[in-house]
Amino acid sequence: MKSLLSAIALSTVAIPALADEVNIYSYRQPELLAPLTEAFTEETGINVNVAFLNKGMVERLSAEGKRSPADLVFTVDIARLSAVVDAGLAQPIESEILNTNVPDQYRDPGKEWWGLTTRARIIYASKSRVDPSDVTTYEDLADPKWKGRICTRAGTHAYNVALLSAVIEHQGLEGAKTWLEGVKANLARKPQGNDRAQVKAIWAGECDIAIGNTYYMGKMLEDKEQKAWAEDVNVLFPTFENGGTHVNISGVALTKHAPNKENAIKMIEFLTSPKAQEIYAEANYEYPIAPGSQASDLVASWGSFTADDVNLMTLAGHRGEALKIIEEVGFDD
Ligand code: FE
Repeated sequence: MKSLLSAIALSTVAIPALADEVNIYSYRQPELLAPLTEAFTEETGINVNVAFLNKGMVERLSAEGKRSPADLVFTVDIARLSAVVDAGLAQPIESEILNTNVPDQYRDPGKEWWGLTTRARIIYASKSRVDPSDVTTYEDLADPKWKGRICTRAGTHAYNVALLSAVIEHQGLEGAKTWLEGVKANLARKPQGNDRAQVKAIWAGECDIAIGNTYYMGKMLEDKEQKAWAEDVNVLFPTFENGGTHVNISGVALTKHAPNKENAIKMIEFLTSPKAQEIYAEANYEYPIAPGSQASDLVASWGSFTADDVNLMTLAGHRGEALKIIEEVGFDD
């Protein structure tokens, strides 16, 4: 009996040493993942290798095919997650842990991608020039009272395409086009720069309100130069007239040919646990999604909101229509 036990003990030790890793392709900065990958390695002994990609995730996975070392892909935005799935590069996971930890609205019905955190696309408004009660809906952005007062990044950026996709879902194609024409008519300048550049423009007096993602507030506050921009604005959570606040997700998918599949599933399960979610969300100033998890104190201080309940897959499905409207309106011209 004793020798059997020590044989089991030996083999338990030996197995991880053989194939003890998981490989990640990430559109997210490795330093954002570091607190999590370190905690995962500490808990499981599985080493995590992260390759950061700027672009071309789908192309790279397709080209590598079965030889790809990647087990997991990390990205933000539902369109990018579904692009991986649509290209046949992911595989479904059957897991009670994932079913419990990831709410329905934040996972693929086909179980090929899983949301980890959310971010809201909100309004940054000048503290001195905008009464918060003047902008409470996304529809408000098309009101002529904002003429010459709105700043935004390019309409074709994934964040704005997803927002317009939500407008399409709420207002229909014609309504969405009219809305986007209204927003364009209100722009203070041609769309340019990233979300933070819009807040800088408010601080500089070029515009009064801007569209941006919530977590940039946290990123600006931690930056010596950008802190002043952040402190010049209020974070306002608009809703759709017949809905909630637009959110998008960061998420993960298991690759079709994952060489370390079991380790990879363990890692996703770990990432969806409320504790890991809170670490991840805090590092990125995002919102955790696992039931019972909470946003950090700083993120919570920006206010609470009800997420729009439009299914994220529905949004991804409107992407083509959204891009067409953006072009027809000449939003970025
Ligand atoms: Fe971003």
